[in-house]
Amino acid sequence: MTRVFNFSPGPATLPEPVLRQAAAEMLDWHGSGMSVMEMSHRGKEFIGIYEEAIALLRELMQVPANYKVLFMQGGAIGENAIVPMNLIGRTGRADYIVTGEWSTRSCKEAAKFGTVNVAATGEGNGFTAIPKRAEWKLDPKAAYVHICSNETIGGVQYHWTPDTGSVPLVADMSSDILSRPIDVSKYGLIYAGAQKNMGPSGLTVVVVRDDLLGHALPVTPSAFNYQLQSENDSMYNTPPTYAIYIMGLVLKHFQSLGGIAAIEAHNKAKAKVLYDFLDASKFYRSPVAREDRSLMNVPFKLKDDALDAEFLKDAQARGMIQLKGHRLVGGMRASLYNAMSIEGVQALVKYMKEFEDTHA
Ligand SMILES: *Cc1c(COP(=O)(O)O)cnc(C)c1O
Repeated sequence: MTRVFNFSPGPATLPEPVLRQAAAEMLDWHGSGMSVMEMSHRGKEFIGIYEEAIALLRELMQVPANYKVLFMQGGAIGENAIVPMNLIGRTGRADYIVTGEWSTRSCKEAAKFGTVNVAATGEGNGFTAIPKRAEWKLDPKAAYVHICSNETIGGVQYHWTPDTGSVPLVADMSSDILSRPIDVSKYGLIYAGAQKNMGPSGLTVVVVRDDLLGHALPVTPSAFNYQLQSENDSMYNTPPTYAIYIMGLVLKHFQSLGGIAAIEAHNKAKAKVLYDFLDASKFYRSPVAREDRSLMNVPFKLKDDALDAEFLKDAQARGMIQLKGHRLVGGMRASLYNAMSIEGVQALVKYMKEFEDTHA
């Protein structure tokens, strides 16, 4: 068996010990005689798996007691509608900070449910930098302010937590959740699809402050009503049980590595290897403003984009896959999520250097 270095933006690489454990437990989970896939979500075995996953997530993220953790379906794109359906009703308006493709889509979707104000946008610089807080034109009557903490496609990331006063801050953390310690109390709501940093696709995690529950628009489908899901321990409908189980294994693995502070140190070390190389090179370049560079998704360009196809083909031949940049941005993109090893990044840089030496 050969495993590749998978730089996919998502669904993404998972920790190998987790995949091995899942394989070993596939037919018979802990002597139950069942696969986790075959368990009732209301049986004691699965309830145990669910409770452990919630407890691990709360511990790793240090979620305060006045927040609920919900396991939902629909992904972050689903949350683009679910968030406004549940939160915008308090005042009928919301502020969006537009920093790239994902926050653009969040903003457009929210406009179906209320009045949306683009309080700041990075469009003027081609989404290569996060607009400074001083430039934001916030509406004091907004029900919330929405940001995307890490733009997976453009590769910009907040390295600061915006202060929005008494207006709740809502963040799409799909591509950087659990990659670094954050202060959950500074947010009203955090949501993330699991498939970038903490598990398989099909599971969406929502962390929401208690006082934001109970304001859903009447049109809100019951399965997407945060309060109803909270009252039913995320089991108003059948939750994505197998994805929850795998996420639980991933979280346990993160805990064994030393928790989120240790993961952050690893992520910083990995990103430094690649950015230091890009900065020293005249053949490759990073289009993103230095202070806003993502530690998770690193877009880069070759000197001549006519070489892109050859670069990708040779990378693939060396077991390095999914390096093609998003079609909106072009060039390359290396995604360095939690489960990517430093060996993977070192192998990439070694290959990039060789490619540069033969093509410069
Ligand atoms: C991947 C991603 C999405 C889309 O997630 P889906 O699971 O396809 O709904 C949204 N926002 C961000 C920041 C992402 O990285």
